[in-house]
Amino acid sequence: MPKIGIGYDIHRLEAGRRLVLGGLDIPFSAGLFGHSDGDALVHAVMDALLGALGESDIGAHFPDTDPQYKGARSIGLLDEVVGLVRERGGEIANVDAVIVAEETESTWGSKSVGWRMDRPTSRCRIFAISWDSQA
Ligand SMILES: [Zn+2]
Repeated sequence: MPKIGIGYDIHRLEAGRRLVLGGLDIPFSAGLFGHSDGDALVHAVMDALLGALGESDIGAHFPDTDPQYKGARSIGLLDEVVGLVRERGGEIANVDAVIVAEETESTWGSKSVGWRMDRPTSRCRIFAISWDSQA
């Protein structure tokens, strides 16, 4: 039986941090604040997967009060969640994600940027838009 989950995440930008989205380093002047690498895209996907399983959210699975997750690569945590999906006999058929950014580099474009998450877990379609784009 198909199960569907919805994830949502928001992080503020902080000057001088690495910007990591979908497990990829994105050239930009600021990065997403967080206890881990702040990869909001991966966090949202993880929450969607956990929700589809009827599990609690990523904050319960990977608490930001736990020092082992300080600076953690979120894509590695996604691997753990994907492992949980598979343990339960699940298979990820599709991931659809939209990134809404307060600021974007002109090189990102205002429509689909064709990013692929750095994992071959599924078909994955990701769009990035900025608040001021006329996409
Ligand atoms: Zn997050």
